[in-house]
Amino acid sequence: MNFNSRLFDRIRIGPSEAEEVVQSDASRCDHPGCARAGEFRAPKGRGREGQFFQFCLEHVKAYNATYNYFSGMNDEALAAYQKQEEIGHRPTWKLGVNSKAARMAQRGRVAGGQAGPDVQDGFNIFGARTEQQAAKPEPRHNVLARKALDTLGLDENADSVAIKARYKELVKRFHPDANGGDRSREGTLQEILKAYQQLKSSGLV
Ligand SMILES: [Zn+2]
Repeated sequence: MNFNSRLFDRIRIGPSEAEEVVQSDASRCDHPGCARAGEFRAPKGRGREGQFFQFCLEHVKAYNATYNYFSGMNDEALAAYQKQEEIGHRPTWKLGVNSKAARMAQRGRVAGGQAGPDVQDGFNIFGARTEQQAAKPEPRHNVLARKALDTLGLDENADSVAIKARYKELVKRFHPDANGGDRSREGTLQEILKAYQQLKSSGLV
């Protein structure tokens, strides 16, 4: 038999078949849809001590970054736990019991079923992230300019080039000349012109 024949090449196991072997292996990554080998252990969390997920390197990193031992505790349980901690020692974490975040966490848990990295991501009940979310960034433009951008279907990051381009496009589209003399969209055209004037006087164009 000639082992260098093309036929022999074809019956060799290719990379795609090798991948399927990993997929059917019980030790593959627990992240839904991930076919890589689950080489890293991660604790499943409170109430499931001694149980572990098996993740690939990427997913164990993601899981560890968002892992929260307290996720899934309701407010009462949290309060009780905090009290215990205060008696023993000062809590090392800041307890910002955000009931909205807690509810979201509960919903995420129910919707997600198995607590995986994606589900855990919204569980940062104690973190500073909640405070950051509460503090909205200052809008870049005043309310009139923002309204004008909105009329043109642009967001507040639009620069003068983008504004001019969109303005031209909309004028073309809504101008009676472009609609066979149809004047029914003149109101829209007026709004577009007004919005553009506003952006000009706001210094955006
Ligand atoms: Zn994975």
